[in-house]
Amino acid sequence: MHELSICQSIVDAVERHAAGRPVRAVHLTVGALRQIVPDTLTFCWELVTEATPLAGSQLVVDHVAAVVRCLPCNRRQTLTEMNLVCDVCGGSDLSIVAGEEFLITTLELAEA
Ligand SMILES: [Zn+2]
Repeated sequence: MHELSICQSIVDAVERHAAGRPVRAVHLTVGALRQIVPDTLTFCWELVTEATPLAGSQLVVDHVAAVVRCLPCNRRQTLTEMNLVCDVCGGSDLSIVAGEEFLITTLELAEA
């Protein structure tokens, strides 16, 4: 379960940025290609933050679909396991436009 180690590294980054200030919520953007299950991630967040200053804070996962662009015809489409070729020309020369994101977007700090 790699979500656990991911959560640990988020905790490290958040604690560095919060610098001792109480954190209410952490917003995270995760692309579909990252193969991360948002529910598992929020579950692991509770485990990892328990008994730390981040206990009780909320992890808000913003899931981004994978989008590809067909290089020959420029068509953009959402990538699923069912369509690994272009809907329009059938080409498989696709460039990833979105879906590889993994970043902490916002830290909500509580009133001190
Ligand atoms: Zn195409």
